[in-house]
Amino acid sequence: MRVVLLGPPGAGKGTQAQIIAARMNVPAISTGDIFRANVSGQTELGKKAKVFMDAGELVPDEITVAMVKDRLAEPDAEAGFLLDGFPRTIAQAEQLRDSLTELGHGLDRVLELVVDEEELVRRLSGRRMLVDGQMVQREDDKPETVRRRLVVYREQTAPLSGFYEEAGLLARIDAIGSVEEVTSRALQALGIQDSAGAGRPDAD
Ligand code: ADP
Repeated sequence: MRVVLLGPPGAGKGTQAQIIAARMNVPAISTGDIFRANVSGQTELGKKAKVFMDAGELVPDEITVAMVKDRLAEPDAEAGFLLDGFPRTIAQAEQLRDSLTELGHGLDRVLELVVDEEELVRRLSGRRMLVDGQMVQREDDKPETVRRRLVVYREQTAPLSGFYEEAGLLARIDAIGSVEEVTSRALQALGIQDSAGAGRPDAD
């Protein structure tokens, strides 16, 4: 199964991607995580990406698309994947569609996590991650950068909702609630049986 997870910064895509991908038995591929790993590793790609990320801007499509193509060509992604944070522009979506077509595949579903902007700002400004045993704020979670990321989302990424709706691929779910509640809505929208609470985790 090939799925794209769509939603604004702070919608909980990363958290849900991990859980849903495990249930689908496919890798969760997060462009944000790949970029952050490259920034920490101080690779050439990381150095290029950091400038854009710290400003809350998108990393240019030519860098991002090449990186995703390489990742999707790895053997573990052959039987399926869950993409988190990609595509983020119509151009990226078109290139994803074309590379999948070349491989004889297509997307099965696009799942959009819907959260209103007020809640997003609240979540992002309070968000901390654990780095070397300490809780730190992500550089791009600073208030000015958060505002910019939300504008970039509205202008460049939100149009993907219509793009995928026209393609007949879109499912939208309310992403406000507990992690478990949102997972359960997501699995239902994807047509995956939700056995959470049935006391039979991952039996099949
Ligand atoms: P969030 O969803 O919380 O904004 P991500 O971890 O998905 O965070 O992305 C962090 C940053 O990485 C983005 O603000 C952007 O600079 C860069 N990035 C991630 N994915 C893409 C993409 N598909 N295209 C361009 N830039 C991206």
